[in-house]
Amino acid sequence: MAGIVNIRRDVDDKFYRYRMPVLLTKVEGKGNGIKTVLPNVQDVARALSRPPMYPTKYFGAELGAQTMYDAKADRYIVNGAHQSERLRELLDGFIDKYVLCGSCKNPETDLIVTKDEMIIRDCKACGAHTNVDMRNRLSSYIIKNPPKKSRKSKKENGDANGKNGDGDASPDGEEGSDDELTKRINAEAAELPPIEKSSLGDDWSADTSPEAVKERTALLEKFKSSLVLAGGGDDEEDEADTDSPYYHLKTWLIENRDDEDITSVDLYKKMQELGIEKKHKAMLTIGEYLFSEENAPVVPESKAVKRWTPAIKKLILAMKDTDKAQKSLLGGLERYVGRDHPDLIPSVPKILMAWYLEDWLEEETVTQWGTHVSKKYVDKDTSKKVRLAAKPFLKWLEEADDDEEEEDDTDEE
Ligand SMILES: [Zn+2]
Repeated sequence: MAGIVNIRRDVDDKFYRYRMPVLLTKVEGKGNGIKTVLPNVQDVARALSRPPMYPTKYFGAELGAQTMYDAKADRYIVNGAHQSERLRELLDGFIDKYVLCGSCKNPETDLIVTKDEMIIRDCKACGAHTNVDMRNRLSSYIIKNPPKKSRKSKKENGDANGKNGDGDASPDGEEGSDDELTKRINAEAAELPPIEKSSLGDDWSADTSPEAVKERTALLEKFKSSLVLAGGGDDEEDEADTDSPYYHLKTWLIENRDDEDITSVDLYKKMQELGIEKKHKAMLTIGEYLFSEENAPVVPESKAVKRWTPAIKKLILAMKDTDKAQKSLLGGLERYVGRDHPDLIPSVPKILMAWYLEDWLEEETVTQWGTHVSKKYVDKDTSKKVRLAAKPFLKWLEEADDDEEEEDDTDEE
């Protein structure tokens, strides 16, 4: 169900260059507390170069519902139960009013708040300045909360230090990561010739002849592969690429992980459907996104862990390199706690214990992991922090091992 659509859903051209993830919704709670969570509105908003709160507030205004941003869980919420198709239609309205150029309908625009409190769409494609309807209730919100950065600074993310790449006004700041790999990819990407200008002219999507389409596709592929080669690793690439199966797995996990009706079988089926049930990299995504902060597996007999055990064990066993699969899972843990929920770092021993007791991890692998700092998944400092926090568990493991050896001749058979 998650997928990619044209930003203008009325344009039926699969080579239309402006695309966004399909807006996902999830109704939670009941009675007066019923609410609609927007699990991927950040990704949608990023594709539109708008802060995620803008479309969220727009929905609220149109539906006469309260909206909120739950910073702790990083969730955008509209009160009440709303159908996803209704919200997608409203999103079309938001895009039409606050994203598309009023003149040429191109979505590459910046919002500018003028001194006399007008909002203007500044079009990068045709240069037109078109006014936004100030009677809409979102407009007064934008006046009070103007966009922080223009698209221009994002596009000209040019210096090889990759310093000014901290992107749009999303409050989660996830683009501010100092991950070495990301830096390297950004730096390499900056050195590539700008594709629009070098060979394609300004409006490269206008020509829809088969030759032009073919050329465009080839160039895109070339551009993508040059990024992969330059970066040397493809995890980040896949995560950002909304067409990748890992991205779909991520959105599926975020959408379903707290839903008690979803089982381990559903997870396994989803991975089969995506064709990644034998890819060790999928374990990285699982480690990162299988648990929300509320459902953190911080007790040894964790139900949250047991629930997924059949799938996790089956997945790891089916992989060619089970050691690598477990290391990916642990890499996911580094990101889950180190990057996304630093509050949970002190709970690392408990999480590892819960995973170990359910046979998600083997002793040898986790010991090896615990003694080797790596910046493969997070920066070096975070990697150290997580391993340092893991110490009590590793120590327990070592001691339990000694005990076992002593009792070696008492066989339980
Ligand atoms: Zn325009």
